[in-house]
Amino acid sequence: MRPLVAHIDLDALRHNYQLACQCAPQSRSAAVIKADGYGHGALACARALAGETPAFAVACLEEAVVLREGGITTPIILLEGIFSADELALVDHHQLWMAVHSAWQVEALLAFSPREPIPVWVKVDSGMHRLGFAPENVSAVWQQLREAPQATSLHLMSHFATADATDSRYFQQQMALLQMLATTLNAPLCLANSPATLAWPVAHGAWNRPGIMLYGSNPLESATPVTDQLRPVMTLRSEIIALRDVEAGEPVGYGGRWQAPRRSRIAVVAGGYGDGYDRHAQDGTPVLVNGQRCPLVGKVSMDMFTVDVSEVPDASIGSEVVLWGRAANGAVLSVDEVASSCDTISYTLLTGVLPRVPRRYH
Ligand code: PLP
Repeated sequence: MRPLVAHIDLDALRHNYQLACQCAPQSRSAAVIKADGYGHGALACARALAGETPAFAVACLEEAVVLREGGITTPIILLEGIFSADELALVDHHQLWMAVHSAWQVEALLAFSPREPIPVWVKVDSGMHRLGFAPENVSAVWQQLREAPQATSLHLMSHFATADATDSRYFQQQMALLQMLATTLNAPLCLANSPATLAWPVAHGAWNRPGIMLYGSNPLESATPVTDQLRPVMTLRSEIIALRDVEAGEPVGYGGRWQAPRRSRIAVVAGGYGDGYDRHAQDGTPVLVNGQRCPLVGKVSMDMFTVDVSEVPDASIGSEVVLWGRAANGAVLSVDEVASSCDTISYTLLTGVLPRVPRRYH
């Protein structure tokens, strides 16, 4: 068997979820498990959290149906609502909750007859300028839905553009608008993603929606005592499959991007962009070989990449290589650090692990 495996630590997932709850003890936290649980396997994550979370959040109906067909009975909110009116029959059948962000969704709902009223979260565009009703239209939508027999449990939801940034001005602007709307409409709120859950108690509403922090990644610009307690859920683990020595000045890999500055021992690791390991990984991107940090050298190939293991005397064929996560000796390499070496974010690395990589749950 090819040695590259994504090991998923479900205890760590539960631990991180509890941390999110402790950050916001007055809120209910809907565990965001869209995009196949940020690449960890939505159904496995849902089964692990089903006893803990009062609701799951997914992007769309298809993701919710996978959970229901897998036996998940916990409430599920569709963060983008429906994409066409005919989805309402399944929303009703599976007893899902839905966000509405556009007038046509409200009209479709009002033209539908559900068996039970559907819990609805009205999405406001408070500054992200992506989805949601313009603030000046929210009262009318709210009124319409409050009187509609099709809708129940109305909440206002919105998404922050800069909750992760140290400069808080734009966040404050969004927050002020949302507080004004909540007061005017006497509406319960659902606003906070992970950064707002971690850094902005003022944004904690009746509900929060933490996502990335559940998987152990810190979305803030720096660490805090809470983010230091997050545990990596995914360990992407592989092995050395070949070793060679190269002389000073010899190039390694496509284009010869990296040239050995001295005689070097090069390990070839099973894992490449065909598995979702980022091709933008720069020379020096860390990996753990037998639990020891080593630099990736040379461009990532489709099925393998190369590491300078000159400083790891016990590196041999079959040695453990951790691309991110926790090594057998307990050393941790955060996916955030790898992401910054790839000029990307943890979200893309985690959701980008391709189906060819088997997931193993612990
Ligand atoms: N809510 C919405 C509407 C989202 O789109 C997302 C993620 O993209 C989240 C919550 C969770 O955000 P995070 O993963 O940063 O916690």
